[in-house]
Parts: sequence; structure tokens; C-alpha cells
Amino acid sequence: MNLNRVIVDLESESAWVEGGATLGELYSAIAAHSSYYGFPAGLGPTVGVSGHFSGGGIGVLGRKYGLSADNVLDVGFIDAEGRVMGRAEMGEEVFWALRGGGGGNFGVVYGWKVQLVHVPIRVTCFSVTKEGPIHELAQLIYKWQFVAPYLDDGFHISIYLTASTSKEVYVTFKGFYLGLRLEAMSIVNQHYPELKIDEEEYLEMSWIESVLYFSGLPKGSTTQNLKSRYWSDKSYIKAKSDYVREPISIEGLEGALEMVAIEPMGLLLLDPYGGIMDRISNDSIAFPHRKGNLYNILYVSFWVEEDDDNRILSWIKKVYDYMTPFVASNPRATYVNYLDLDLGTIDFTNKDDDIVEKARAWGEKYFLGNYDKLVKVKTIIDQQNVFNHIQGIPSSSVQYHDEL
Ligand SMILES: Cc1cc2nc3c(=O)[nH]c(=O)nc-3n(C[C@H](O)[C@H](O)[C@H](O)COP(=O)(O)OP(=O)(O)OC[C@H]3O[C@@H](n4cnc5c(N)ncnc54)[C@H](O)[C@@H]3O)c2cc1C
Repeated sequence: MNLNRVIVDLESESAWVEGGATLGELYSAIAAHSSYYGFPAGLGPTVGVSGHFSGGGIGVLGRKYGLSADNVLDVGFIDAEGRVMGRAEMGEEVFWALRGGGGGNFGVVYGWKVQLVHVPIRVTCFSVTKEGPIHELAQLIYKWQFVAPYLDDGFHISIYLTASTSKEVYVTFKGFYLGLRLEAMSIVNQHYPELKIDEEEYLEMSWIESVLYFSGLPKGSTTQNLKSRYWSDKSYIKAKSDYVREPISIEGLEGALEMVAIEPMGLLLLDPYGGIMDRISNDSIAFPHRKGNLYNILYVSFWVEEDDDNRILSWIKKVYDYMTPFVASNPRATYVNYLDLDLGTIDFTNKDDDIVEKARAWGEKYFLGNYDKLVKVKTIIDQQNVFNHIQGIPSSSVQYHDEL
């Protein structure tokens, strides 16, 4: 956590971010230098840059500028033998794997050189919550599937599905637009008039204020609070995820909303893809989920010690099972940054396991056709599987460990 410096160089429009920095520290450092630059990454300010960039990293700038990993220019890296290297020394294959191939697999990244991206001096945000009969809410979400992935690249409208303890469902539309509110209003009115957003709900602000707006920090927080490494509401968390390539029917969406209604501690987040995500090839970096994905679904639950975790874990599995016919399949695609241990784990001490094949069970869900190349790179850079974890990329040279 002390390896958290961010060195911004406006002349080259880039920054070096040390491996222990958080997204909030990165965002704050950029904003302290200029209001004309930002960086595409996720919403949680306490998320660490290294795990995040290693798995991809997506946020409201994703449809315009892609993932964090798409904007990594170089790294400072230490391999299993203690060799210190950058992009030039490690070669393009290892550099490819470090961008989207998942954290903790290849070595330690101690610094990331990132490309800063242009943001206008004012951006527009909104957060509008709809309640009402499930059928009407489902119709609104149904339409969103035909709008959000196709909007101007600078527009990002995501949906949060939540429920109250009285089993009422809330559908919250969170919008971000790289431009002024009048433009944002006109785009929404033209493409998605059903959303019926009041004029005063479109809020103009600076990019760094928009980071705070979406950060989940308590009301009254300031951009200074983005630098805090500590989250006040600590809870347990379980996540799963899917990709949607064909619009889900209204009936399918109604069923999902009914399932959300029964669990006040669970939510579904629908994050639009399209834009530049459609124009980057599946194998340009290790992160593979690109063209043809309309949106990603994150299923997530939060709970504290006193809660009944069995109930919550069984809810998330039931929703995931219910969604099976509606989402990408063969393999069922999943985002590695929403790590899901239900997909399987390696037992490195079991001599009977072929770990490369065992890890394919989740490796192909996280990395699709890039899995085999990741195993190849792993075998080059960390033949002895020094960097391993229960859902890691295995080296094909090591079949088991006597002990860990
Ligand atoms: C509150 C919250 C909000 C989130 N929002 C988003 C979002 O908007 N968009 C999105 O894409 N994701 C989001 N995520 C998911 C997030 O991207 C992942 O959880 C990510 O793995 C977190 O990285 P970390 O470094 O904080 O975590 P860690 O658990 O520390 O690391 C994750 C993995 O990376 C490895 N790792 C860590 N540091 C290094 C390093 N220096 N070198 C090599 N490997 C390393 C670890 O060993 C581990 O395997 C969110 C998560 C949370 C908890």
C-alpha cells in the first residue's frame, strides 16, 4: 500500500501508477494535474489498480476508450526468478497476458504506464430510479437492450436492479455522458424517451466530480475522499457474471425481476458494451469479451456477519441458473474481475489431475479462445508455477505441487 505514487506527465499524456495504488488515488492524481484528462477504469475508488488492470477494468468510459488494460502502455514487472523487466525485456506475449489475463498469475507488476484519455471540462450524469409493476419495468429494460449498446460511444447508461425488504423492485438507470446536459437530454429524448427523465435530473459536473458521483461513497463526501483506502461499510461479497449477446425477452426479464424481488441484499448490474468494445479484436489483449456482447450482467450480494449467508448464496445461484437460457453459452462467458469460485478450483496436490485441462473449466469462461495462449505464456514466464492460486492459469510444465 505504500507503493502508491502516481506520476502524471501531461506532455506525453501518460502516467506511471505504482502497483499498490487504488483507482481513487489514480483518479485524484490525474485531476490534480488537469481537468482535461481522465482514465477509463471502474467505479470503486478503493479497488487496487493492479488486480483491476490485470483482469481488464471497465467503467463508464469503457464504450469510448475501452478497458483500463487497453490503455496500458508499459509495465514494471518482476518475474518468478526475481528478474526486473519492462515491456521491451519481457516481449509482447507476456505483455499481452498481463493485460486481461487475471491478477496473480505471471509475476508481480510494481508499476503501470497508462495512456491518459481526453475528457471535456463538463460531463453529464444522472441517476433515475423507477418503481412500479414488474411488467412495466421489464418493458423499460427490454427497450434499453436496443438502445444502450448502440448509443454514441461517449454515452454509458447502466441499470441496477435492487429490491426493498418489502419485496418492491427498483430499477435505477445511471447515465454518464462525455458532454453537456442539453446534448445528453436530446440524445435520451431521441433514442429512449420512455425513460422520462426530468430536466433537473441531468447534472453537469467535472469528470472528477462524476467519479465521486458514481463512487458509492456516502453523501457529503468530497473528491478528497476518493483517496481514502478504507471503505466504511465493510461486508462480505459474492459475485457471478454473464454476457448477453441477444436481447432477453420481456417474459425473461420479468422472471429476473421477480427473482430480484425476493432478495433485498442482492442486485444485478447491467453494464452496456458496444462502442469501441465492438471494434477491438478478441485477442488484441488477453481480455476477450468484445464484439457482439450487448451487455455484461454482474450478480452480486453483500452481507454482514449476522446475516444468513446460506440464504444469500443460494439466491445468487438460483438467479444464475434461471438466466442460463438468456446468456452467452458454450462456454458461458464470465468476467475474470468478478471472480467466481463456483466455476471450479485447482487442487495442486492431486497427482491425478491434469491441471491445464482442469483449469479449462473456468479458463475458457474467463478468457474464451485466449486460454491456451495464456497457458503458453505462463509456461514461458513462470514454468514452475510459483505464482499460483486456486483459479490461476497453470503452467503446462508442472502437473502438481507436493506442498504449497
Ligand atoms: C467495490 C468494488 C467495485 C468494483 N467495481 C468494478 C468496476 O467498476 N469495474 C470492474 O471492471 N471491476 C470492478 N470491481 C472488480 C475489481 O476489478 C476486482 O475485484 C479486482 O480484482 C480488484 O483488484 P485488487 O487489486 O483491488 O484486488 P486483489 O484481491 O488485491 O487482487 C486481485 C488479484 O490480482 C492479484 N494482484 C494484485 N496486485 C498485483 C500485482 N501488483 N501484480 C500482480 N498481481 C497482482 C492478486 O494476487 C489477486 O489474484 C470492483 C470490485 C469491488 C470490490
